[in-house]
Amino acid sequence: RTHAEMSALIALSLAPPAAPAIHTGRRKRYDHVIVGAGFAGSVLAERLASQHDAKVLIIDRRDHVGGNAYDRLDDAGVLIHQYGPHIFHTNSDEIVAYLSQFTKWRSYEHRVLAEVRGMLVPIPINRTTLNRLFDLALGSDEDAARYLAGRSEPVDDIRTSEDVVVNAVGRELYEMFFRGYTRKQWGMDPSELDRAVTARIPTRTGTDDRYFGDVHQIMPADGYTAMFERMLDHPNIERALGTDWRDVRDTVDAAHLVYTGPIDEYFDHRFGKLPYRSLRFEHRTVEAEQFQPVAVINYPDEAVPYTRVTEYKHLTGQQHPATSLTYEYPAAGGDPFYPIPRPENQVLFKKYEALADATPDVSFVGRLATYRYYNMDQVVGQALATFRRLDRAREEARQN
Ligand code: FAD
Ligand code: UDP
Repeated sequence: RTHAEMSALIALSLAPPAAPAIHTGRRKRYDHVIVGAGFAGSVLAERLASQHDAKVLIIDRRDHVGGNAYDRLDDAGVLIHQYGPHIFHTNSDEIVAYLSQFTKWRSYEHRVLAEVRGMLVPIPINRTTLNRLFDLALGSDEDAARYLAGRSEPVDDIRTSEDVVVNAVGRELYEMFFRGYTRKQWGMDPSELDRAVTARIPTRTGTDDRYFGDVHQIMPADGYTAMFERMLDHPNIERALGTDWRDVRDTVDAAHLVYTGPIDEYFDHRFGKLPYRSLRFEHRTVEAEQFQPVAVINYPDEAVPYTRVTEYKHLTGQQHPATSLTYEYPAAGGDPFYPIPRPENQVLFKKYEALADATPDVSFVGRLATYRYYNMDQVVGQALATFRRLDRAREEARQN
């Protein structure tokens, strides 16, 4: 359909009733309107449509489903992730079982190298990293632990992202691997960021060079978008893509709203803007089977303007004579991709959260609406928990 036809259809589906439904008490056009078609919104749309037989309208201001996990074939026919590399990993059997209704999986263990001192070495820092970087011959976990203990600079009260790393590996390794990368990625020094940010990256004394330690390390076999398409393929689910909530919120006719966009935006930035960090993605295709030895290479050097380069064929297993890459350039403005974990932002978020708690007809779910630096599996878990709460509330209402 053309854009004009789509707009006309959306206008129709969102047209206000002759008399405001709220006064007539008649059935609403939709049981739920869901803002955002990423993991949070799509899981809830699927659960509510299939388990409650509810009529759901899901809208997204982007012209596709999948949120930040959206993938597509690029002009060369290589499957890329439009918003940077998304690697699925979780310790939850329940979350894997839930998503397995909509996709088969491909096993994939993520490995990342960092370019440091002109060498490519494993990150998270492990025994191999130490041996290569400092020309050592540490032969066991105990050797590496002793070596790191000699470098570590113990911090009594670990609060910041600098504290975590300096405490674990000392200042030199911190500066080589973390300071520059973090300053680029977040536009601030690690000493200004909550410890949770760099604590995502462990330090290892063994030779395990996988980025994640989770039990399940898998990728949707046909990609994320195909998985979302199956999730949302239900007669009770209508979609309105290319539709911004702010443009339609006065006309939508629904009993309940699920909101997965930025929480401060929902409340018109009443208490001021909640900071989110953005990225600019540069997608490139190279006429070669392979470009780099692993899916992701990190560039902690502050003089390099991007943070990492991803080559998707490692993740997807796709066979193709060409290969496609994404360079990530951190940015202050643009789509909100990351909540910025630091105490003053949490204080501001709490003010918005109190407003959200006082807005019972709206469920706030997902990374932007709950201002949490969540991975995909955590968002799925949060959405499933939200569904369980809505389910209980429905049962209680039925009994009364
Ligand atoms: P989103 O995916 O952001 O979806 C929210 C949707 O709401 C968006 O599509 C947006 O357009 C829409 N929206 C917002 N406001 C409005 C509005 N006013 N009107 C209409 N629509 C609106 N997680 C992992 O587990 N592994 C990874 O490897 C990984 N890598 C990542 C790499 C990058 C660069 C980024 C940014 C994130 C990564 N993540 C990863 C995290 C993952 O993207 C998120 O956990 C997950 O996608 C969040 O889902 P969500 O539904 O909460 O939000
Ligand atoms: N980080 C770093 N150097 C690295 C990898 C990570 O300094 O080589 C820090 C950086 O602050 C980053 C954070 O650790 O933002 C979390 O890294 P992760 O790879 O989990 O980031 P994401 O994939 O969520 O962007």
